Amino acid sequence: MVVGAGPAGLGAAFRLARRGLRVTVIDRAAEVGGNAGSFDCFGFRADCGSHRLHPSCGPDILEDIRAFLGDDLLDRPRHGRIHLAGRWLHFPLKPADLLRRAPLPLIAGFARDTLLKPFRAASKDESFADILRTGLGPAMCEQFYFPYARKIWGLEPEALDAEQARRRVAAGSASKLIAKVLGLLPGFRRPGAGRFYYPRYGFGQIAEGYRDAAIAAGAELHLNAPLEEIHLEPDSVLIRAGGTEHRASLALSTIPVTILARVLQQTAPPDVLASAAALRYRAMLLVYLVLSTPRFTEFDAHYFPSSGIRITRLSEPRNYSLHGPPGRTLLCAELPCDVHDEVWRMTADDLADLVREDLAAAGLPIEVPVEHVEVRRLAQAYPIYERGFHHHLVRLNHWLDSLPRVVSLGRQGLFAHDNTHHTLAMAYAAARCTGDDGTFNHGRWREERVVFESFVVED
Ligand SMILES: Cc1cc2nc3c(=O)[nH]c(=O)nc-3n(C[C@H](O)[C@H](O)[C@H](O)COP(=O)(O)OP(=O)(O)OC[C@H]3O[C@@H](n4cnc5c(N)ncnc54)[C@H](O)[C@@H]3O)c2cc1C
Repeated sequence: MVVGAGPAGLGAAFRLARRGLRVTVIDRAAEVGGNAGSFDCFGFRADCGSHRLHPSCGPDILEDIRAFLGDDLLDRPRHGRIHLAGRWLHFPLKPADLLRRAPLPLIAGFARDTLLKPFRAASKDESFADILRTGLGPAMCEQFYFPYARKIWGLEPEALDAEQARRRVAAGSASKLIAKVLGLLPGFRRPGAGRFYYPRYGFGQIAEGYRDAAIAAGAELHLNAPLEEIHLEPDSVLIRAGGTEHRASLALSTIPVTILARVLQQTAPPDVLASAAALRYRAMLLVYLVLSTPRFTEFDAHYFPSSGIRITRLSEPRNYSLHGPPGRTLLCAELPCDVHDEVWRMTADDLADLVREDLAAAGLPIEVPVEHVEVRRLAQAYPIYERGFHHHLVRLNHWLDSLPRVVSLGRQGLFAHDNTHHTLAMAYAAARCTGDDGTFNHGRWREERVVFESFVVED
């Protein structure tokens, strides 16, 4: 049994079914893909926020995706921009553009902080703020990373764990940031730098490719089937989902680990349940606007790190998918929040007004008719690495390791900040750890998990 039909669940299902194992996948949603899925929106295929497949994707995974998608897997240049102190900078950062347009106080502050780094007092490296202040210095932190972190995770940088910086900020030191910028110069260019893969009919085409290949290899898929119960029996697991019972030798779960612990609550000790309750995910509102113009801007995405603007990113998929109905374009605004915030319950029209206000404040007023507004709500968009989270996660994982027939994996299952290629790498690893008789090699899985800890998210 595979629980969850996002990339992790479908990736594992495909690799196992291809080897001849009997696999059944269940998901509570009506469509596959999870947070990496796509859906129909007024003639467009819309993604759950801006998604791209990074060129650092493992070769075995890329080979499978290429086999599923063929010519539909487009290789696109990155063409985004960041709104910083009222100016626009190309993203990914380009040296010439940076020197020409970056706010002077930021560049001067960063140069000063880099020169003074040897004299900065070593921090305790306990929080997100400690790590980035030590690595990048105060100017970059105060003007870019900290306001962005407050918006994305809803906490002060001091309240976020140091691990959040290690796993989430690829350019966490001055030398890494400079190397990243120089990496785009001719002569220094890293393979794939400044480019990404994108499926012609939406990012969800990747999950749909895995779905089709898994079904072709014999897997069964049940959608609209939320997980209700898991009973651990000596030789099997009994799973009830969407009112149907399934018996299996092994359950690979890719749903949020906090939900899995609740479903398994009869077997979980109280301290494990307390730890599951202490782990939180950040939610995200996705506001889609269909405009009656062929193009809003030429950019694939606009990033808004500053606190004056509530949305964190705006993407325009037509600029990279090259697909969509004529005469219209689709915008997707990302607004991180908490499910208990008032904004979570705002109507689509009110959210559209909020996005329009933010865009006008950034100098991007919408001056054409908005033909359609739609909102999607992701309750579990990002894991929050609040200080102390590690203790709870270790306790939860330790307990899960003691269950021979249940394995938790994927971005939600391992409470990780991973990209799609990372979560697929976990799925392939879980398939490698599964024997042809449905047994699971937990020792090998622990070794694989050490590798997952080196994954750093790419934006
Ligand atoms: C805004 C945003 C932008 C992103 N951009 C990128 C990007 O550019 N590039 C990139 O590589 N990655 C990106 N990601 C990350 C990417 O979305 C994830 O890596 C990927 O979705 C993880 O796949 P998964 O299968 O591990 O989890 P999910 O996609 O979350 O899938 C979990 C599945 O479990 C199901 N489920 C949950 N609870 C239950 C239940 N109780 N019963 C049954 N089923 C259940 C869900 O319906 C879902 O289908 C982004 C994520 C977000 C939120």
